Amino acid sequence: MSDWERASTARVLPPARPRKLAKVPFVELADGRVQGVVSSGSDIGRVYVSSVAASTYEFSCSTNNNRPCGGARGMFCNHILALINESTLQYGAERVARYLRVEVPEPTAQAISQTMSATRPSQGDSTAAASVFSQFLRHLAYLEFEVSTAPVPELQWFPSTRAVV
Ligand SMILES: [Zn+2]
Repeated sequence: MSDWERASTARVLPPARPRKLAKVPFVELADGRVQGVVSSGSDIGRVYVSSVAASTYEFSCSTNNNRPCGGARGMFCNHILALINESTLQYGAERVARYLRVEVPEPTAQAISQTMSATRPSQGDSTAAASVFSQFLRHLAYLEFEVSTAPVPELQWFPSTRAVV
């Protein structure tokens, strides 16, 4: 097989469980972080870019306009909790726990969040937010493609070809 033939048969992982895309439209395990975009509960025009780093559990949450999230002062805000919850639906709790290096006997979204919170992780700056958000927008651009039944190699990002195994 040629390179492109092999590449075009890349495996696409189905989500571990169906999840609500409206609440957390984008989540990925990438760049050593669980990161993604979380809808604002109250304002349809606002989203939060949230992330938690592996090992240190350093977290950050800010709006798409780069305003800091009011809820993420010294602890995980609801957006981060929603992000972790959705990441376990997308990738499975064991894989998320392994990726974040959280040691829990029986990984669940709640156990993962609690274990990380208990270490009193520090709050990081929002430098990652811009790249997470542009990644999200790049994925959204595919929604504007004309409908076609031909293979679109770039769509193999879904759920994320960059995710670790
Ligand atoms: Zn937040």
